[in-house]
Amino acid sequence: MHTFLSYRAEGKHLVLEGGELKHFRVRRIGRGEKFRVIYEGKSFLCQLYSEDREKVLCSVIEELDEKQSFCSITLFQCVPLELKTFDVIVRFATELGVAEVVPVMSSRSFRKREALERKFGRWNSLIKEAMKLSGRVHPLRISEPIDIKEVEPVAEENILLDNFHEGISINEVRKSVKSYSLVVGPEGGFKLEESKALIEKGFKPVYLKPWVMRTQTATLVACGFLINASSS
Ligand code: SAH
Repeated sequence: MHTFLSYRAEGKHLVLEGGELKHFRVRRIGRGEKFRVIYEGKSFLCQLYSEDREKVLCSVIEELDEKQSFCSITLFQCVPLELKTFDVIVRFATELGVAEVVPVMSSRSFRKREALERKFGRWNSLIKEAMKLSGRVHPLRISEPIDIKEVEPVAEENILLDNFHEGISINEVRKSVKSYSLVVGPEGGFKLEESKALIEKGFKPVYLKPWVMRTQTATLVACGFLINASSS
């Protein structure tokens, strides 16, 4: 079903304007056709009520039941030197239902904070696109970039995707928890002392089978696995 994002209501109608209006026009939605509108963390089945040059008003037929009972993941992602890879991670983290991505700067990661801060606009538009595709109603949060020394075990189960320590298989990670945090290294991996410091803070080293993967592959596999294995 076509999905649009609304940021404002007029009376009982939801408003589509700006980029969403353009998207609506491209889709050539006719009167009587049903579509989905995401508004304030909820999802509604709607129909076109009226349109003019500036906006479309949508009448709400019913609220859609979008129960999302899965774990919350905070992803501490060391920023790949190839910055475009972070765009890919933002996109699939949104689709997968990751709650928050924290860009982390480590010794082998991308380290220019100002360049990262300039990417927020792009990341937010990728998040919107991915929300529309997947029907996710709450946006992925992207936090300010932090240094690897500031990473803390914030969840019930805290995992380090590690390429030094034996650790446990992701299959052995507890499934019945509400929240995970996950630290993933950049293309060149962690320095040994970085992964040691994270383990001392309480992160469990975890490996993925069968062999070493690119950072984005490891992130995708781990998040997809945890979310599917712990969903009710
Ligand atoms: N060049 C490094 C590999 C880094 S892979 C080396 O040869 O050691 C980039 C990151 O992806 C790693 O730091 C780790 O966080 C994650 N990763 C990749 N494959 C993994 C695996 N099989 N198990 C756990 N983590 C993995």
